[in-house]
Amino acid sequence: MKSLMVRTGVFLAVFALAACAAEKVYQWGVHDMNRPRPKVVTPGAEDRLPPSDAIVLFDGTDLSAWQRVQGGTDARWKVENGYIEVVRNGGDIQTRQAFGSCQLHIEWATPEVVRGEGQGRGNSGVFLMGLYEVQVLDSYNNDTYADGQAAAIYGQKPPLVNVCREPAQWQTYDIIFHAPVFKDGAVEKPATITILHNGVLVQDHWVIEGTAFHQRRAEYEPHAAKLPIKLQDHGNPTRFRNIWIRPLED
Ligand code: MG
Repeated sequence: MKSLMVRTGVFLAVFALAACAAEKVYQWGVHDMNRPRPKVVTPGAEDRLPPSDAIVLFDGTDLSAWQRVQGGTDARWKVENGYIEVVRNGGDIQTRQAFGSCQLHIEWATPEVVRGEGQGRGNSGVFLMGLYEVQVLDSYNNDTYADGQAAAIYGQKPPLVNVCREPAQWQTYDIIFHAPVFKDGAVEKPATITILHNGVLVQDHWVIEGTAFHQRRAEYEPHAAKLPIKLQDHGNPTRFRNIWIRPLED
């Protein structure tokens, strides 16, 4: 009798599970011809060039998409031979447009004349939403703390590998960033970031711990859903070129 009850119980449990599974509703059937096809996007002629749906933030000619962070005046970095370069006292610059989640492509080169060491060599940074820094640094034969070298999430997470090229050589960052979501003054969903440095995975869906600070644990402070992207003037003549972005829907 007892074994019959157990068997009945198991049967009922399996039946309940099957009923639950049957309740799952899919918007589209498998191989559903009514399912909308992904939008056609023409890739750039070379992989590093902007695809047809990208917003170009710097195409080699001018800094019209950027402004000085301090004061909001025109960006004063040097534009030369298809790149921009940090100039002395130029200050941090940021995009005029605000962005949240995005795919960002940016190329950079550290100075050919190697000066300084550690954090003082070719330092700049790409700040998603102006707050979350992907470190730019000459990390070619240049020792520093791991969470501050090139492609680190500054102060949080070293890159998986050091794939830094020699000074003056152009390097690429391809960044996939999902913005944090805040609710009632607290973080509800932290930001995540994936980065390819020179085509190599260096950050694999890292959950960002908060706003980057120097020598202080990162923490979140609620902010707008979209904010400008910032490039850092750390006093080194670091260069950038070919900057484009594709905003992502979350
Ligand atoms: Mg930096």
